[in-house]
Amino acid sequence: MSKDKSEFRKEAMLSRREMIGGATQLGLLAAGSLLAANTVAKNTGGTSSSDRPFPAPSSPTGLPARREFMIRGGALVTMDGNLGTLSAGDVHVRDGTIIAVDQDLSAVAVPTIDARGMIVMPGFVETHWHLWNAIYRNLVTVQGRYLAIKHELAPHHTAVDFGRAVRLAMLEALDAGITTVHDFAHNIVGPDYADAEIEALVASGLRGRFSYGWPTALSNDQVMPLEDIERVQRDWMRQPDRIDGRLSMGFVARGPQYTEPAVYRAEFERARELDLPITIHAGPFARSVSAVRLRDEGFLDETTILVQFQRATAADLDAMLETGAWNSIGALLPHLRGPIESDITNLVRMVNVGVNTCLSIDATPTSTVNMFEVMRSLWHLGVPGGASGHAPVGANVGAHGANVHPASSESLVPITLQQCLEMATIGGARALGLGAATGSLTPGKRADVILVRATDLNMVPAADPHAALVCSGSVANVDTVIADGRVLKHGGRIIGADVETVKREAAESLAAILRRSGS
Ligand SMILES: [Zn+2]
Repeated sequence: MSKDKSEFRKEAMLSRREMIGGATQLGLLAAGSLLAANTVAKNTGGTSSSDRPFPAPSSPTGLPARREFMIRGGALVTMDGNLGTLSAGDVHVRDGTIIAVDQDLSAVAVPTIDARGMIVMPGFVETHWHLWNAIYRNLVTVQGRYLAIKHELAPHHTAVDFGRAVRLAMLEALDAGITTVHDFAHNIVGPDYADAEIEALVASGLRGRFSYGWPTALSNDQVMPLEDIERVQRDWMRQPDRIDGRLSMGFVARGPQYTEPAVYRAEFERARELDLPITIHAGPFARSVSAVRLRDEGFLDETTILVQFQRATAADLDAMLETGAWNSIGALLPHLRGPIESDITNLVRMVNVGVNTCLSIDATPTSTVNMFEVMRSLWHLGVPGGASGHAPVGANVGAHGANVHPASSESLVPITLQQCLEMATIGGARALGLGAATGSLTPGKRADVILVRATDLNMVPAADPHAALVCSGSVANVDTVIADGRVLKHGGRIIGADVETVKREAAESLAAILRRSGS
């Protein structure tokens, strides 16, 4: 569609919003598609499209083939600045690319995915996840034991175990509507371990960044092995066919939180030489990470991701704003449960002042693979005055008891539904340098698209699609997942992957790791 037309529509939507107010506008959106869809579901005798499986001929990669198709009749939460949110519309996909997005595209003789009753949106983009230990699920029974378990078991994985863990995690990501994953690989023991992770990433069909890291057992006074990184660049990342055009590479290090300047500088400098973006943990155990110092040392720019940096100082915020560096907030915000309540306030402050913020899953032993939950947690934490909105902005209460303590001269404003959705999609894409490829339903971008059922019990009445996604959405509502133009989940079922084998092998690997460790 033309820009003029989209701007006209945006203006029309805005003027309507101004004229008729929030409540009626919600009705307007709902009337377009989602409420009406209850009738559709009833008339077709089902609540999803599971009775009409999308044909999925296989390709030489073992993944379903990319095809041309039309997604019709869903509420479109495009996350595109020009297109905005449409109460009903269509998305045309061809050869892995979004060809067109509009209210009512003219008929084309291609297969159709019926999206009536669903919210159509870009796949989620997460920005920090330790995939290699995804098989530790449900091992952590005591708070704080995750790190202890990790250090105890990390030396006992084989490369095969790594591949199986990544397969498991990526299948779960797919199931949950996450179409881009940042693999923060912080236990690379040797080349075969890196290869096993990358092979599993490619096999998943999802988009990803593989960030090369250090072996967990390495002493903090030693520089991590750096010699294998160029091989991975040469043999994988510069071979587009081998990675199906879906992988990029980054670099993760222990950074100033765990290592002395001489160590982290040697590592960061190598990453710079190899043109690899740097991601580090930046909280919350000690205020040892300084964005100011990283900027002054030349290690902070718009490609840098600082994970869990909610203890940033005012000067750090300035350095991040100046450079465009990112703060990545982890799933369920587990580290905000620490002793410093002002962490929460600072997180809201960072979003308020415009620090680039993205979201992450982090570690499945302690958090679920659920971007709806990450968005929801963030939204509730970031509501000064509580969800009711009756208390004055900046009051010492947040939704569900979260404490927000702004400085006396400061007036914080709530984190909005739109901001939560942006962080979970286009924000994450930009953080990973993929803003031109994914993160929104924009013609010309790759087709990373999910369909979320708005007719399920936990979603009805789905008055406003943004609120439905952030306040009510769940992984169980993810009906269809399209990654790089391939339909990998449809009607709530994963297509083209042997889920049972992946689950069984993950369990076998964990049992073997526990046996080898003597646990
Ligand atoms: Zn982490």
